[in-house]
Parts: sequence; structure tokens; C-alpha cells
Amino acid sequence: MFLNLTQRSVVLAFIITVMNISMSMAQEPYVLHADQQAHRLDKYVHVLIDESESLDHEDILSDSIQKLFDTKPHNLTFGYTKATIWLKLSAINPDSSLTWLLEIPAPFLEYVDFYQQDDQLLWQHFTSGYYRPQSQRVISHTAHLLPLQFGQDGTSHVYIKIAGRSPKTFPVYIHEKESFYEKVRFEDVGYGIFFGILFVMFFYNLFIFITLKQSNYLLYICTIVCTFLIFSSASGYAGKFLWPESPMMNFYAGRMSLGVITIFLAAFTIRFLEVKQYSKGMYYLLVSLFPLSVAAAILTATGLLSSAGNNLISLSTIIYLATGIVCRIKGNRTANFFIAAWSVYLVGGLLLTLRNSGVFPSNFWTTHFVEIGATMETVIIAFALGDRYRRYKEEKEEAQQRALEIQQEANEKLEIKVAKRTVELQHTLDTIQLQKSIIEEKNAELDAFFYRVSHDLKGPMATMLALNNIASEDIKDKEALDYLSKQNGQILHVNQIINGLISLTLLNNDMIEREAIDFNKLIDDCIDTLRSVDGFNRVLLKRDVQADITFESEYTLLNAIFQNLIENAIKYSKNQGAYASISVKSDNKEVVIEVEDNGTGIPDEYQTKIFDMFYRANNQITGTGLGLYILKRSVDKLKGSIQVDSKPGVGSIFTVKLPHH
Ligand code: ADP
Repeated sequence: MFLNLTQRSVVLAFIITVMNISMSMAQEPYVLHADQQAHRLDKYVHVLIDESESLDHEDILSDSIQKLFDTKPHNLTFGYTKATIWLKLSAINPDSSLTWLLEIPAPFLEYVDFYQQDDQLLWQHFTSGYYRPQSQRVISHTAHLLPLQFGQDGTSHVYIKIAGRSPKTFPVYIHEKESFYEKVRFEDVGYGIFFGILFVMFFYNLFIFITLKQSNYLLYICTIVCTFLIFSSASGYAGKFLWPESPMMNFYAGRMSLGVITIFLAAFTIRFLEVKQYSKGMYYLLVSLFPLSVAAAILTATGLLSSAGNNLISLSTIIYLATGIVCRIKGNRTANFFIAAWSVYLVGGLLLTLRNSGVFPSNFWTTHFVEIGATMETVIIAFALGDRYRRYKEEKEEAQQRALEIQQEANEKLEIKVAKRTVELQHTLDTIQLQKSIIEEKNAELDAFFYRVSHDLKGPMATMLALNNIASEDIKDKEALDYLSKQNGQILHVNQIINGLISLTLLNNDMIEREAIDFNKLIDDCIDTLRSVDGFNRVLLKRDVQADITFESEYTLLNAIFQNLIENAIKYSKNQGAYASISVKSDNKEVVIEVEDNGTGIPDEYQTKIFDMFYRANNQITGTGLGLYILKRSVDKLKGSIQVDSKPGVGSIFTVKLPHH
């Protein structure tokens, strides 16, 4: 087998280089065959675990340290170790036309330092890491990249230092550049879908929250925001695109959000599944997650236990799932969705936790299943919320329908009842009507009887008065005269009652016989009948009757009005300086009769009662209590109104208004 010149020189150069390499790199280089675009080098790197966290690159190159490198094939699953991990690798590139990139696809590794030998065999230092800005990285990327430089012999020598508190479980790859960027594009699409779903869910639930104002949705929105922050920073996308120069944001978004999301998720679970109602035990377990979240946040922030946040998430995921199962068993149907959502997430979360703890190696499933789980969990819970909303709407509609039916039923019952009552009422009305007509008939009979009796009594009364007068002329005995005078008074009183009764029986008659009224004559007639009233002589009667009044009305009723008003003004007058003014005025609308006196007046509390039958406010003066009652009835019959304005000790004004028709 003959080698051409170039091939020979390559082989020679290779041999020389291998011999020339310092002892520190005495390692079989990994051959980057061109037929494979991605090479996983986990098992080919040599490992040094620096528990002291103090070695630097120069120390590493020393012979004594070199001997300490572990050359056995490794899984690179160190978990939550504080120790600094040093990796040593050599790779040979048989095809110089290819460009190779070294990738550690674990964005969360806090400090990553690459040391690579250049053409001059000088060591170059490159930095990367979760807590380092993008501008300090040799290639800006979500994870950690190093473009490999190959010496003249086609070999690349690299040391990698990994420090920090994050879980140190990661793979080491070398990719052919073109295929690497193709892989990145594929990953970008995957994450794009993931973040897209979170965005859609965020706005979808925000919309429902604005519509329904139910805090469940708000809590859920908060969990979506936290999920976004955690995954966008853990995947390196937030570090690359959202805060490229503020890597400490990764600390808050990626690490501290773990505690916050636990609080939101616990609160959401409690409300969403109405846990308190279904299981007191699970409720208290969920409530205990609140202080645990705070404790985990403190432990993570201080670096005392960097796995605290992750462990809490794993624990709480199990609690959510268990709560869902308990609530389902106890009859909560919404829990179905909840169980489904958390089962997927739990598998992803467990895979990730076991990867982080170093139990499982880093691969697609241990890295990405949790993201798939989170997406599914987000979507399923959104469905569950939607289902809850649908059920809530259905229940509301059902309740409305039931209320409507109840109302209809009640209406129907009511209608039947109303119809029944209407018949009863009609019957009662008919009975009342019948009774009324009977009563009216009886009343008419009674009125006729009263009228007859009153009229028949008037004659004997007049005779008795006349006999009394004759007797008083003949009798000289003082005692007998006194007796006669008292008897006279009683007869007059009875006479007054009889007159009142006659007026009342007349009032019951529905007919009104109108005639033109001459008020002056009417007043004269009244005054004539009042001459015998006590006090008539001491009262000065004034009158003011408008000249041109034309008024048609029933004479007897008007007479009753004037007679009662003037009689009272005389009866209840003062002993000295008493007067009574009678005034009659008219306009187009009505006739106004006013009788004013300066007599005893009527106390306020009696003024509304004096129009009642037999009501008397002054018992010192004889009377029947019928006068104002008859007057009021007469005024009512003429469709008028009466008003009194009186002050005790000052006097009274009675105003009667009668409409023209
Ligand atoms: P009577 O005068 O027979 O007692 P009325 O019905 O005419 O009955 O009057 C009822 C009450 O109204 C009287 O008892 C009296 O107290 C009071 N009253 C009526 N008119 C006057 C008046 N002009 N001045 C003072 N009191 C009056």
C-alpha cells in the first residue's frame, strides 16, 4: 500500500505531533469521522473532580494533577455537586474542510471555561455560562459553544472547567458546523411551539379572566408566567434573547421562580379542585407548601441547598397529583383533567430531577420531556378550566330554566287561584250589592220613618213650648217658674235635635233641586231663625255679599250651611265686643263663603274632629254635636270643600267653597 506525498506528510506530522504533545495531553484523540455529523464525547473525556474548587488551568497542566485525571469512560452525571469539574479532551479532524463546534447543551451550567491550544500551541481561554453575559461568550448561543481549532497535525486539545451550584449533569458534543445550525433551527422551532402555546394559553386565560373575573384564572395566568420564566431561562432562550447582558436575571427567573410557582400552583389547586370541601388532609398538605416554598427560595438564594427549588417542585407535583386523585375519588369530576395534566408533568419532572441528581444521563427525554409535560399540563388545565366554565354555564342555565319553570308553575297556580278568587269576589260583590240595595231600601224606609216621626214630633213640641209660655205668664211662684224655664230649655234642645234629624234625612235624598240663590235673603232668613239663640244680642253681625253673584244651588242645603256657621259664631262668642262677619264672593269657578268670628276659638287637636257626628269640643255651651256634621255633609253633597282656621282665644274663620256646577 503506497501513500502519496500529502498523505505521508500528514501521517508523519501526526506521529511527530503526538510525540510532541506535552505529557499533559497524553490521551488518545477522538477521531471526528466525517460520516457522523454529531459526536457524543461523554465517554471519551477524562475527568478531574476538584473538590477544593481552587485549581486553575496552570495547576491542571502540571504533571502531578494530570495524573489525577480519571481516564475511565464516564457518564458525566455528577448531580448537585459543589466541586469544580475539569474535562480534558482531544479530537482529531481527518477532513480539514470541515468545521467543528464543541457544545455542552446544558444552558444552566453557571460557569463554563474553555481552554484550547492554538496553532502556536499556546493556550487560549474562552468563557461561557448561565451567569455570564452573551458578549463574553465566544459564540452567542443558548448553551455553551466552542469552535474547535485544529493544529497542523489536525488535532484539537481542549480543557473545560465547569463550576457553580447548578446540577452538573450534561453531555459533551462535537458537531459539524452546518449540521449543528440545522439542529439549532429544529430546536428553535420546538421551543417556538412550546413558548407559543404558553403565550396562547396566557391570552386565552387572560380573556376568560377579564370576562368572568374569577381568581382561578388569574392564579393560572401567574403559573403560566412562572412556567415561561423558568423554562425560557433554563433553556437559555431568555438569556440569549431577553436579557443577554444581565445574566443574573437567570438566577431570579430560573431559580427563584420555582418557589413562586409552587405558591401559585398550590393556591390554584386549592381553589380549582375546591380541596377544602373534598379533603381536609390534602388541603393542609397544600397549605404547608406555602412556607416550604419560602424556605426553598431562601435555601436556593443563599446557595445552602441549590437543589431545594427543584426538589420542592418534584415534591409538590406529587402532592398536586395525589390531591387530584383524592378529590376524584371523593366525587370531584373536574379532577379527571387535573390528574391527566399532572401525570404527564410528573413523569417529565421526575426524569429531569433524576437527571439533575445524576441518576439518569442527560439525553433528549430527560431534558425535554418536562417541557413536553409542561406544555401538555398547560393545555390540559386550560381545557379543564374551559370545562369548568362550560359546566358553570350549564349549571347556571339549568338553574335559570328551573327558576323559569318554577315561576311558570307558580304563575299557573296563581292564575287558577286568581280565577277562583275572582269568582268568589264576584259572588261576594253580588251579595254585597244585594245587601246594599236591601240596606238602602231599609234606610229609605228608616229615613221616611224618621222624617215622619220628626215632623209629627215638631207639632207637639211647638204646642209644649206655647203651653209653657202661657203657663209662665200665669204662674207667679218663682220655683215653678224656674222649673218651667228649665223645661223650656230641654224642649228647645229636643227641638234642635229633631231639626237636625230632619236635615239629615233630607241629605240622604240623592236628588238636588237647584234654584237661583239670593244670598242676602238667605242670610236674612237664617238670622231670623237664630234670634232666640243665647248671645244673639251681644254679637255684632256684619255682612259683605258681592253684588252680582249668580249661583244656582239647593236652598235647604245652603240654608243648613249658613245657619250652622252663623249659629256657632254666635254661640261661641265672647261676652264683650263680639262680632261675626259673613262674606260671600264669587269668581268663574266657585262661590266662597267665609264666616269669621272673634269668639272662643278651637284648640288645634280638635279641629279635625269637629266635623264628626255628635262631636263636641265645648260642653259648657248647649249643643247637639250635629251642626258641623250636617254642614260638612251638605258641602259634600254640593261637591264643595270646607276649611277651618282657628286659634283659641282669638277666633275662628270657616271657609266654604262651592263650585258653580
Ligand atoms: P254644637 O255646636 O252643637 O256643639 P257643632 O257640630 O256645631 O255642634 O260644633 C262642634 C264643636 O265645634 C262645638 O262643640 C264647638 O266646640 C266647636 N265650634 C264650632 N264652631 C265654633 C266657633 N265658631 N267657635 C268656637 N268653637 C266652635
